[in-house]
Amino acid sequence: MENRISNLVDERLEELVQLLADLVRFPTVSPPARNTTGVQRYIQDFLEQEKFETVSWDVFPSDPNVVGIKKGTDGNLYNSLIINGHIDVAEVGYETEWTVPVFELTTKDGNAYGRGTSDMKGAVAATLLAVKLLNELGVELKGDLQIQTVIGEEAGEAGTLSCMEKGYTADFALVVDGSDRQIHGQGGVITGWITIKSKEVFHDAMRMSMLHAGGSVNGASAIEKMMKVIAGLQDLERHWAVTKKYPGFAPGTTTINPAVIEGGRHAAFVADECRLWITVHFYPNETYQSVTKEIEEHLNHVAKADTWLRENPIHFRWGGKSMIEERGEIFPALEMNADHAAVQLLAHCHEQTEKSPAIIGMSRSVTDAGWLGAAGIPTVIYGPGKLEEAHSVDEKINIEELVVFTKTLMIFINEWCNTTSVN
Ligand SMILES: [Zn+2]
Repeated sequence: MENRISNLVDERLEELVQLLADLVRFPTVSPPARNTTGVQRYIQDFLEQEKFETVSWDVFPSDPNVVGIKKGTDGNLYNSLIINGHIDVAEVGYETEWTVPVFELTTKDGNAYGRGTSDMKGAVAATLLAVKLLNELGVELKGDLQIQTVIGEEAGEAGTLSCMEKGYTADFALVVDGSDRQIHGQGGVITGWITIKSKEVFHDAMRMSMLHAGGSVNGASAIEKMMKVIAGLQDLERHWAVTKKYPGFAPGTTTINPAVIEGGRHAAFVADECRLWITVHFYPNETYQSVTKEIEEHLNHVAKADTWLRENPIHFRWGGKSMIEERGEIFPALEMNADHAAVQLLAHCHEQTEKSPAIIGMSRSVTDAGWLGAAGIPTVIYGPGKLEEAHSVDEKINIEELVVFTKTLMIFINEWCNTTSVN
């Protein structure tokens, strides 16, 4: 079977490139987003053609998710599989710097160029071709196969979370986002807003009465008080770097970035409000709930040591379901069990097609995989495409890489979905 799969994929290289060209032609850039109805309908039609039962729903207006399920012949006894990929692409940035068309696939020197080729329409094209060719080979799957194409990954809009909230599950999930065909878990990211707000608003001329002996006004500038918060965050960040570690990550990966600051009204006022937007990275054995609790506890201690902050508590707002709508996002971490039967099988399939051992490690980036893991589904990230290509000018993917990935995927699907489940 492995040889038949391998030969068939080689024969259909043109079709793989054409599929990718079709997907790239939809300019599903996020932000601004709200532009994925067309590409999702294309994918839905494709899956229907391949005997999948499909469902689609708007996560945001004009941004639908698609889930296609092909029921196995003995779904209760055999392993089920989710293959998940996002169909939004990163902002184009300076289009004038591109030397190839952004949304029209260009092939040269064995590469395919265009926005989203690496991140991650190449992987979605490979997934679609894989299910089509398995059908052509007459491969019957005993376990259920589920394809999820989701929206919003580039803007923290977690189309995948929406799939999990609807209860879609399986014995194993593959997120085929770019990992250079390494098998990855990931750390997590959460953003948060820290706000300092004065109960009163003061004219600029009142500042001297707040600062100097005999002034008698118990007021403060929210901007200046935020300096204490930032210093506190730096202390905590350093403490984390010294005390926390996790295999596969450089020490100090757990950063707290003060990314954006907003505050004050104008020059005739003492600033009565200041807001700090932070980005927090954490390890796979931590949760966004636990790290945000650590930050709140630490900053509340900082506040207790300040006479004004004691009376004007710091406010926290963590995460969010969209960077566009609410300026907040969460990417849960993903712990990976390298001994899991599916991970072992995937590594084996990889070795067969790639003729080299699979590398099992940790991603330097974040993907939707954490949402599947958080829903209790054993999950790994495994996809074609290199990290440096994602979001880049003249984004490209190596076509041979895509071909080999398609083979690995087909062999894996055939093996995993035809193995009895342990549950
Ligand atoms: Zn991606």
